Amino acid sequence: MNPDLRPSSLSRTVKCPAWLLTVGCVPNTPTSTSAADEGTAAHEVLHRALVGLTQFEIGKRTAIGVPVTQDMIEYANEFKRRLGHVNLFSELKIDCSCIYAGMTGTADVVIHDTASRLLHIMDYKYGFAWVSPVDNYQLLAYCMGFWDSLGRPGGYTFMLSIYQPRAYHADGVVRSVTLDSKALVDYFAQMRQACETAMTPNNNEYHVGAHCLYCPRRHVCGTLSAATDNIYEWLNQPQSAIDTQPSGQSTELSMMASAEILLKAKRTALELVIMEGIKSGKSGYRHMIKQAAGRLQWAIPIDQVTTIGNMFGVELTHPEPITPTQALKLGVPVGIIQDASERLPGAVSLKEIKETTLKNMFSAVSLPR
Ligand code: SF4
Repeated sequence: MNPDLRPSSLSRTVKCPAWLLTVGCVPNTPTSTSAADEGTAAHEVLHRALVGLTQFEIGKRTAIGVPVTQDMIEYANEFKRRLGHVNLFSELKIDCSCIYAGMTGTADVVIHDTASRLLHIMDYKYGFAWVSPVDNYQLLAYCMGFWDSLGRPGGYTFMLSIYQPRAYHADGVVRSVTLDSKALVDYFAQMRQACETAMTPNNNEYHVGAHCLYCPRRHVCGTLSAATDNIYEWLNQPQSAIDTQPSGQSTELSMMASAEILLKAKRTALELVIMEGIKSGKSGYRHMIKQAAGRLQWAIPIDQVTTIGNMFGVELTHPEPITPTQALKLGVPVGIIQDASERLPGAVSLKEIKETTLKNMFSAVSLPR
């Protein structure tokens, strides 16, 4: 089975089945590993909280070596508090072979209430890009797989939820959708059909859209390139004034929104490819990598943070640990904070090297007289 045919990539498979065709022939678009690793670490922290294992201290490294942050612990505790004392499965491996033979996935949280016949699948998203539970094929696949393993009993209601504490939305940090078995079976048919098409050799079912944003093939995708070429061409043509008709104005606005998404998909792929090139020592780029300063976090065990608080008569760890920056505001001396904390590396981005950038770099060097 193609290892990329999995629940977490099903949304893309449903919308663009052909994306799987060339996987393995060329390297995938490099990923922003810091964000992915942070998400993996946050899931580990959540799992420990949900199954009652001793929680990590801030700064301790998770299994993949990422330091645990205060946010990870706070969001995990908040999720646990919201769930209450229900019986749940955390990090449950689900067989989704009913959708495609051999497909499996791991659901973050599954709550199966046999009395009320409610199956609730929840997914924890640690990133900032907003994720909807509606038409969420990853959750739908877990739901279908679990229900199928029960023998598809009748009278069930299904709830799919996203818990995403770092993406602000008017609906809150937990967003849910419910559906009945008929709706689930309709989605099931759609998922099965998409997987069949995706695994058919030489199918040409490429379709661009918002699903291109995180496609690991987007740096080599001819269909995406053709779409962005059309946008560049349009930009180079003389533009007429804004349409006088409301429908024309709406159409143009929708086209612009679609164009922005496709340009962003191509731009982020290019950024990651250029970053990889710079890191591997290739020359010829007119860009350099810029690293932002990250957040300050405690570099000492939490009981020592408590001791510092006691020394200066301030509460630093109860009910929840506060950050070194907050401790500074409460009056802990800057020298103590510096010794007890570390600044995490911030996000990396590309900066174009313009003439002014070079001038600023050289003016920062003081030459001997
Ligand atoms: S970039 Fe878009 S169109 Fe191209 S393979 Fe990926 S999802 Fe499909």
